[in-house]
Amino acid sequence: MVRFFILISVFLISCASSTSSSFTLLPERKEIEIGQSYIPVAIEEFDGLYTQEEVQNYLSQLGTTLTKHTYRKLPYRFYLVNSEQVNAFALPGGPVFITRGLLLELENESQLASVLGHELGHINARHHARFLEKMVALNILLGIGSALISDKPYGQVLIQFGQIGAQLLALKFSRDQEREADKLGIEFTLKAGYDPNGLIEVFHIFKRLEKNRPPEWLSTHPLPETRIRENTEIINSLSLFKELIKDSEDFQRVKRLVLSTKPSFDEFSKGKKLYKEGRKDLAYRHFLRSVELWEKNYQAMVYISLILLEDGRLNESFEYARKAYAIVPNVFSTNYAMGLVQFRRRDYKDSIKHLEEARRLIPDNPDVYYYLGRNWEALGYRQRALEYYKTAIELSGGTRPWEGDARERLKRL
Ligand SMILES: [Zn+2]
Repeated sequence: MVRFFILISVFLISCASSTSSSFTLLPERKEIEIGQSYIPVAIEEFDGLYTQEEVQNYLSQLGTTLTKHTYRKLPYRFYLVNSEQVNAFALPGGPVFITRGLLLELENESQLASVLGHELGHINARHHARFLEKMVALNILLGIGSALISDKPYGQVLIQFGQIGAQLLALKFSRDQEREADKLGIEFTLKAGYDPNGLIEVFHIFKRLEKNRPPEWLSTHPLPETRIRENTEIINSLSLFKELIKDSEDFQRVKRLVLSTKPSFDEFSKGKKLYKEGRKDLAYRHFLRSVELWEKNYQAMVYISLILLEDGRLNESFEYARKAYAIVPNVFSTNYAMGLVQFRRRDYKDSIKHLEEARRLIPDNPDVYYYLGRNWEALGYRQRALEYYKTAIELSGGTRPWEGDARERLKRL
């Protein structure tokens, strides 16, 4: 009997130690690091950063008013991205994004505070972190397999980076998690002095929009009638004794500013759609019009630069890439465009500088590795070129037109 007992305890101890490794609690430092590393990916995915400083500053100020009342002290950041989608989302450990499309649908400051509050709710309840914790357990298993078959762990790490990112940017939360985020969001907005009814108003806006074109937000944040009812009840049960903020002059001014650039972004959207369909001549005209309508639309300039580059119009391409880079030097797309055009202009060193910056921002883009290889090869660094070609091929997985060429060069080197 005693022996049996010992056997069981040994069994329990070994179980405990093996399960504890697969349910790792993601350290906060790591959570922050992961969130930060996907900011440039999110910016590109949502058509770039909105570049009017006044608008970004306003958003940061409003966000900071809310984060004074959050439970977790984190490096919170707030970004307005250019996408016409109606969406808002957060990344682990602090970054919060709202699309231009959503901002233009909002009617007052308390609504915007409610949207930000809700996303801060997800961060504060560690919803992203919990998702990652599940992923890490899975990755331990995957890691064993890939470590055995792969002698290039670096490539594997990059592929995992891409896979995790794709899931983080389309993260669907459960009904319970939404309920929790709503509740925390109401708490933060109220403590910051805003009317929490803004949240209910936003829900009604989404419901109205749904009749024509469902807001993208709804695809990751389900909005059944029960959710509206429950939150209305929560807000009604609160004693809203103090004077609450509904709107501000600042919000309306910022919204007017964003509205004034809408025609430029409408042209940009048309151009992007045509570009994806391969109708680049037509796309080019819309991008030009986009820049005419707003001279700071850097993402349109990036596309113009790439189209001109394909046509072999190097000098004009360079002019547009340079203008775009001057407007926003710290994003992937402007460095990528500069890197490509400088390679064609045979300024290999400058090309490397920009492509390395692009790689630092988004480390799993195969084109960046291919052109880094081409640059190093042109400068006579064969070994380095070889490594970049290898990674480029590994990451592209048969999707890029230069793949045959990269394989030829690998053989030759
Ligand atoms: Zn949510």
